[in-house]
Amino acid sequence: MSAALELTNVDAGYGQFMALRNVSIRVEPGEAVALVGANGVGKTTVARVASGLVRPTAGRVVANGRDLTGRAPHAFVRAGIAHAPEGRSVFATLTVEENLRLSFRRHFGARGVERALTSAFERFPVLAGRREVLAGQLSGGQQRMLSIARVVVESPAVLIADELSLGLAPIVVTEIADQLRRLREAGTALLIVEQQLGHALALADRAVLLERGSVAWEGPSAEAGDHVIARTFVRSRNGGTDASVRSDGDAGGSTRE
Ligand code: ATP
Repeated sequence: MSAALELTNVDAGYGQFMALRNVSIRVEPGEAVALVGANGVGKTTVARVASGLVRPTAGRVVANGRDLTGRAPHAFVRAGIAHAPEGRSVFATLTVEENLRLSFRRHFGARGVERALTSAFERFPVLAGRREVLAGQLSGGQQRMLSIARVVVESPAVLIADELSLGLAPIVVTEIADQLRRLREAGTALLIVEQQLGHALALADRAVLLERGSVAWEGPSAEAGDHVIARTFVRSRNGGTDASVRSDGDAGGSTRE
C-alpha cells in the first residue's frame, strides 16, 4: 500500500545552508507519527518540505503514490496534505469567519466556501460561537484551533501539525490533542511536530528523532520513551520532558548515524 506521505533521502535548506540531510520519513494512511528533536534540528523544515513550502535539493516527496517533488504548495493541498504551521497563523484583524472564508476561497474556490464553512463550524463549535470575533482577540488555544480549522475541512489524508501546543496552558494543549485524536479517528494521518513530548508521544504510533538535520532514531513511541528520550532530552525544571538540551551518548534503537 502507498504511504500517505513519504519523504525519501531528502536534502533541503535555505540558500547555502543545508538544514536536512538524507531524511527519510514515512507516514502510513491513518497513522500518527511524532517528529521530535531539540531546537533547530530541522523539524519545521521537514514540515515545510512535506507541504511544498521548501523544495528539496535532493530526494523525493510522494503522497498516496503521487510524486509531488518540486511541485507548488497547492499541488500538495490537492493531494490531501494539510499543514497547520508553527505560530499563530491567522489574520488578527479579520474575524474568525473572515479568516476561514479567505482560506476556503483559496483552497476550494468561491463555490466551495459555504459548504466548507458549515463543515468547519460543525467540527469546531467553539469557533462557531465566536465567528464574529476578531482572530487577534481569541485566546492562544482558540487561535490554534482556527489554524487547524483553516486546513482540515474535507478530512485531509495527512495533517502536518507544527508545534500546535507551544506556549499554551496544559488544559488547552489537552483540547488540541483531543481535536487531533478526533481527526485521526476520522481517518486523517498525522505528522506531529512537537516540543511537548508527552502529548506527541501519547498521540503517536511511531516517533522519529531528528538530530542535526538527520534522522537519528525511529521506532514505536513507547520505545522512544524508554530508549531515546531519556538519553537525548533533559527534564525541564517543571518536571516535564523538554526537547532543549541533548546529553552525550548514542541513542538506542535503530540508530542510523
Ligand atoms: P525549533 O524547534 O526551534 O522550531 P526546528 O527543529 O523546527 O527548530 P528548523 O526551524 O527546521 O528547526 O530549523 C533548522 C535549521 O534551519 C536551523 O539552523 C535554522 O536556523 C535554519 N532555518 C530555519 N528557517 C530558516 C530560514 N527561513 N532561513 C534560513 N535558515 C533557516
